[in-house]
Amino acid sequence: MGDSNNQFLSDGELVEMRRSLLDWYRQQGRTLPWRNEPDIYRVWISEIMLQQTQVKTVMPYYERWLERFPTVQALAAADLQDVLKLWEGLGYYARARNLHHASQQMVNEFGGVFPEDLEKILTLKGIGRTTAGGILSSARNLPLSILDGNVKRVLARLVALDVPTNQAIATLWAMSDQLIDPEHPRDFNQAFMDLGATLCTLKNPDCPRCPWQQFCQASQHHTPTDFPRKALKKKVPTKRLVAAIAYNSRNEVFIQQRPETGLLGGLWEFPNVEGNIEATIKRLFPDAIYKKSLATVFHAYTHFKIEVEPRVYRIKLVEQKEGWVAIADLHNYPFSKAHLKLLIN
Ligand code: SF4
Repeated sequence: MGDSNNQFLSDGELVEMRRSLLDWYRQQGRTLPWRNEPDIYRVWISEIMLQQTQVKTVMPYYERWLERFPTVQALAAADLQDVLKLWEGLGYYARARNLHHASQQMVNEFGGVFPEDLEKILTLKGIGRTTAGGILSSARNLPLSILDGNVKRVLARLVALDVPTNQAIATLWAMSDQLIDPEHPRDFNQAFMDLGATLCTLKNPDCPRCPWQQFCQASQHHTPTDFPRKALKKKVPTKRLVAAIAYNSRNEVFIQQRPETGLLGGLWEFPNVEGNIEATIKRLFPDAIYKKSLATVFHAYTHFKIEVEPRVYRIKLVEQKEGWVAIADLHNYPFSKAHLKLLIN
């Protein structure tokens, strides 16, 4: 493949690949609410939600978000709590905090307008090169390439890349740069993502229907699912936590908020520790009476798993108001997935 200096495809192959992909896209491309959307704010929201999350999961969140925060200004003025609440269940909460933070950057530094200059966009929190390329190609038809998970997988298969994709990032960017159709960058990038999401899937690539089969080394000489090569996985550790569900005679439970930075920042949870919760609960409420333990809850994050044993405590009527929330009002607070599971335990 390829005929000259660092070009992995010949000019003729590039032309043919662009043409065949765009033909396929015009017939088979997905209809998505943010596609052909000229409002760059909306495109930004969709790009961030689609990171690590599938289209069908994103759809209802996207609609609700735009109803609640229709503009950069509305988002910037919102309370972070409300933003997290709307994001609840979508995972990777840093994305919601970054959207909120970046909207305030736009208001403070760019006059409340989404910047259209690549350098400025890259200063916004949570936006890297591929997201910037996705936004500007989609909303403004600018010829900026992308390299999301779907695109990496297709590229690795096209050239039967013999190392994991994280060891060949510069090469993969160069390939995406070469492939993008300078005359139809919006459609090309959208088509590229669709190809990865619908035909060149992780487990069941549908090569006979793929417009790029004749160019694809993995399909022609190997088993496509052998690519991308897997990076050696570290064993995922398990954290064992005990959470205290403390209630009082006003039908309230005690919850606390995590610090705004870090994992699950800004979300609410029951007091919890690794190991013995007794000291913590006695420090908070010296008269706490242990009632019972509930079924252990399990949850997997990207880099670790947790097991949470919920222990229920009765607290005598307390004067202190802070942290006590009526059970009927708990749904107003954004909780992490694991602590949501405790709520319905
Ligand atoms: S031919 Fe198969 S493996 Fe190759 S890009 Fe198409 S779907 Fe993926």
